[in-house]
This record gives sequence, C-alpha cells and structure tokens, in this order.
Amino acid sequence: MSSGYKIVLSGSKTAVSDFRHSNWIGFLGCIPSNYPKMPYSREIMENIFFPTQSDDEGRLKFAPYSLRKIEAALLEYGFTKDEVIIADPRKLDRAIGPETKAIGLTVHDPLGYSAVSQLNACLFRLINWWPAPSYTAAAFGDIIKNPLLKRYNSKLIIGGPGIWQLEEHPEMFKEWGIDCLVSGEAESIAGPLFESAVKGEAVLPERAASGKPLRSDKVPIIRGPSTGGVVEITRGCGRGCQFCTPDLLFFGSIPKENILKEVEIEVRHGIRRIELHSEDALFYGRKLGSFEVNHEAIVDLFTSVKKFPGVRQVATDFFACSTIKSAPKTVKAMSEIMELDKKHPGYVETGLETVSPRLVQNIMPGKVKPYTIEEWPDVIDDALGILDDNHWFTVASMMTGLPKETEQDVIRSIEFIDRIKHHNVFVWVFPLMPLRAMLKNAAKWAPEYTPLRQELILKATRHSISLINREAPRILKVLPVWARPPALLALKYVTGMTLHFFKGADEAIARHEDRLNLYKDLQYAHNKEGEAVMHVSSVVNELVKIGGGSTTLLPEEEQNLLQGS
Ligand code: SF4
Repeated sequence: MSSGYKIVLSGSKTAVSDFRHSNWIGFLGCIPSNYPKMPYSREIMENIFFPTQSDDEGRLKFAPYSLRKIEAALLEYGFTKDEVIIADPRKLDRAIGPETKAIGLTVHDPLGYSAVSQLNACLFRLINWWPAPSYTAAAFGDIIKNPLLKRYNSKLIIGGPGIWQLEEHPEMFKEWGIDCLVSGEAESIAGPLFESAVKGEAVLPERAASGKPLRSDKVPIIRGPSTGGVVEITRGCGRGCQFCTPDLLFFGSIPKENILKEVEIEVRHGIRRIELHSEDALFYGRKLGSFEVNHEAIVDLFTSVKKFPGVRQVATDFFACSTIKSAPKTVKAMSEIMELDKKHPGYVETGLETVSPRLVQNIMPGKVKPYTIEEWPDVIDDALGILDDNHWFTVASMMTGLPKETEQDVIRSIEFIDRIKHHNVFVWVFPLMPLRAMLKNAAKWAPEYTPLRQELILKATRHSISLINREAPRILKVLPVWARPPALLALKYVTGMTLHFFKGADEAIARHEDRLNLYKDLQYAHNKEGEAVMHVSSVVNELVKIGGGSTTLLPEEEQNLLQGS
C-alpha cells in the first residue's frame, strides 16, 4: 500500500524476530553487538538469528504476542484490517506512507539494560573483553533513528515490557520523537489513544496507563499467529515481590474457551508447538488470594490444548518453586500430558532471587507462600528435585547487588549454588536492575560489585555454561537435522572457550584485580528525590552516550573518561 497504513505497529529486528518459532533464541540479542569479532558480524547475526517473515506489503507473518494483543484491541475498537498493520522493521517503507497517522512500537530491551544484557556486559568485562551495547540496544537504535517514523508527522507511541528502560531517560524523549509512552496493560486504552493520534489531535499524553485492570474474560483474542506460538493463560501474579513488573497487574486466569480460540489461530497458521504463557502455570484457575493449586483446572486446560487438532507439543514458561513443592501431583500430571521424557525434556524458568531470610523478608515474603521464609532454601531444593523427576530442565535466576545485601548473604548464595548444582538447573545470577516498582525502595542504594559478588556471578555462569556444553545435543533439537552437527560444533567450541576464559577471570579476582571498577567510578544517576540510585544500567547508558550508540569504547578512552579529559 503505497499511501501507507493509518496505524503501523512494529518493533526492532530483535524484538519482532521469529527463529523457527523458538522464543529462547531472543536471549542471544543480549550479547554485546561487537561480538563475535568478525567483519559484518551485526548483519550476519541479525540475518541468522533474528529473521522476520513478511509479505510484499511488509505485514509480518508471525508477530510478538504483545503486538498481536494491541492489534486485536484496535480491531475490536473499530479500526479495520486495511487500517492496521504489524509491519516488518526491514520493510517499513512499504507500510509507512503519507496516510500513516500513528506508529506503535513494542520494546523489550531497548537500551540493553535487561538483566541478561547486564549479566553479559559484566561477564565480558570480567574476561577483559570490552562490551559494546547489546544487539537489542543496537537494533532499537536502528529503528528509533529511522527517518520514516517521523517523515509523515505520524505520532509515535511506545509500549511493551521494556519501557521502564526508556522511562529512565525522559530527557531523550524529544530526540527519539516519542509522543506517548504506554505502561501496563495497553489493550484497554489502545483504541482511544490511537484514535486521538489518527484524528491528529495535537498533543498526546506523554505517559498513558490504563486506570483499572482488565478483566481476564475481556482480554482481546489475537487475530494472527504469534512468534513462538505463545498463548497467555494467566495475567498478573499476586505474590507481591517488590522488584516485579508483572506483579503490578491484577491476577486473573483467561477462560479456557478464549485460550482455545487463540490455539486455533496459531494452529491454523502452521504452528504446532503451543507455549502457554503465565507467571506461574501452576496458578491457572486458582482462587484469588489463595495459594492452593487448582489441579483439575490445570489438567483440563493442558489436556485440551495437547489434544487440540494440529497441536503436537505443549510447553509452558514459568513456575514458582513454592507452587511446585506444594503440587508435585500436578507437576507429574502436566509432564505426562506434555509427554516429557529423558530424550524430550521440558524447559521452564523460575526465580530464586535470594536465599537470605532477611532479604526474602524485605523484598519477596509472598514468593515463599504457603511456606515460611526459613523454609525457602529447602523449598527450592525440593522443587528442583520434583522437576528433575518429571523430566524438566530449570532455568533459575538469582540476584546480587540487592539493597542491604551483605557479604554473608553473598556467601550464602555461593554455597547454595553448590547445594543445588546436581539438579538439572541452569543458574544465572543477575546484577540487580532498577525496575520501576523498586525505585522508591532502592533510593540511597548503590551496589558495589565486590570480588565476592563477581565470584558469585562467575560461579553460577560457569556451572550453567558447563551444563549447556553437556546438554548441547538436546538443546539444539530446535534446529533442522542438517543444521545440528555444525551448530553442535559451534556451541561446544563457544562454551569450551568461555570456560577457558573464566579461568583468567577467576585468577584476576583472586589477585584483587577489579575488572568491574568502572561501575564504581562513573557518576551516579539520581532519582526524583535527588538520591543516588546508581546501578549497572546507568554505566551502560554512559557507554551508549559516549560511544554514539553503537561503537566500542576502547580502554584508553575509558581511562580518559575516568580522568575527566
Ligand atoms: S513470584 Fe515472580 S511473577 Fe510473582 S511477584 Fe514474584 S517475581 Fe513477580
């Protein structure tokens, strides 16, 4: 359509890509964009790992679930398919034209501040490799600087799980050309907001958020297939962890008939593996305010999806350890429905965060329920055992750099990794990120990445990389058969070399050589109250500014910077 669509929804190449309907590949976007060191590495990496499929008009065949929801909300509101497109960022020139009044972008990790990007930045520094901003940040830089976004005076509206990163930089909104930043559940406000933009109302609100939670039976049903075959089954969580954005949403389970309608849409477009998304799949169908697992509702849902004509595989993404421990019978039933076995394990994520009772009490007392805070380490250990027994591999996250975290707490975490590493668990320890929900409590807090914290990050990473090395053949089953042997060689080589480089980092830490000293020396950012809230993300921001958004800062330049020249 040469005149362009009225409303164009899109995102960066890394945010909207679809690699064989596999969502985990997205984490590759979090490595520094100056690696691997080879000519045209960005183009090669983006073309291989962040591909997009679209028609001649630039309409994406598979789009991120969040954009599908906005598309559905706009169509429900009264816009037509001729007015709304989810566009391929590689073909924006075919979707945007003189008729385009509003452009909506979804962002996941626009500035590379996400926990995974930050962990990668830390690790690269620890092995003495200078990290440029992540591929995710570089790709956001590409799209936000695309002159097409503003060529026809379209309004630019941005939403998505990564907007907290942009909110850290209100001073950049003008330069980025952002008219409105939408937080939280956008479906209920997308219609009126885009209508204002389409009508050309002069000023959109700089920030927009839905006033009240959306009832789970009112969440619009997607109209096209999502990347990774995602279908949402619950929204919100209700455990109340202080650092958590999903928890800001009201908890509710999506009615089964609506879930199956979305499954039907995915299947109709050729998707055979459905990923049932939630913050904790074991919370599906639970009563509000209760931590009791609704075994019947879960078994009924998973059975219905697995038996849905055309579905070959059902997966899910998150469990909480406390619910696993309280419901081993349900975990077993789910694994049987999903036909998991030794050769075909399931993969699920869980947040451990910390095992310090004091910190659990401070930031996440609800996470351990129905158990006590003192029981938390045993709950994790038992839950991982239940997952092992039922053929799951667990991807577990912990944090360091929490406010009031002592060296004793860090030692406790190090020892805990030793305790659980016999399980099928990948453990990643993330330097804490400044989520909005935590900003107030984080005031006056500035974590220092002490040798002990560095050791903790390295220990967990070494364990997980070793496990990836060992499990590489199973992990690579997502690839076509012909691609597996070269991919296996590459993965074995990369993981083997990484472990080799970690030895050097270990020795450097033992020599008290502080390879993360930059984090201490740069200026602290300030929150609204003027208090220091420096964290690793601000450092990357400094680097983005200094490096012009994509270039690498050389060690000599770093020295000049630190000396103020
Ligand atoms: S349990 Fe997980 S999803 Fe729920 S509030 Fe805590 S961190 Fe958020």
